[in-house]
Amino acid sequence: MAADCIFCNIVAGKIPSQKIFENDSVIGFKDLRPQASLHHLFIHKKHSKDVAELMKHDPSQVSDLFTAMTSYSENEGLNVKGYRIVTNLGSLAGQTVFHTHFHLLSGEPLSGFGA
Ligand code: 5GP
Ligand code: ZN
Repeated sequence: MAADCIFCNIVAGKIPSQKIFENDSVIGFKDLRPQASLHHLFIHKKHSKDVAELMKHDPSQVSDLFTAMTSYSENEGLNVKGYRIVTNLGSLAGQTVFHTHFHLLSGEPLSGFGA
């Protein structure tokens, strides 16, 4: 837990969130400023700053995250409708929260990248 990290505080329940998924290692919750009609964030309960750091220190957490996202998507029928998973790393990509997270977007036809 990083005390000054927004997403660690969401894991700890100190900042409220609209949770849509939880298991022992991962939570999923609605993005505060959705960029599609379905826009969720999936994070590991353990803190890391981005996916590159995570792959160096504990690649099994990436597997935990993809297991959670694909399981959620299958339960919601999104694997049939379609969805997009995005992660931003660093300033060129526009990362604003430095706790590794994957955006899961769906619910409507998604426009191209960069818009
Ligand atoms: P990034 O730009 O780092 O890839 O994505 C960070 C995302 O976190 C943004 O889409 C932003 O809307 C979302 N976000 C930032 N603060 C909060 C918060 O306190 N609660 C929730 N649910 N989402 C947040
Ligand atoms: Zn954190």
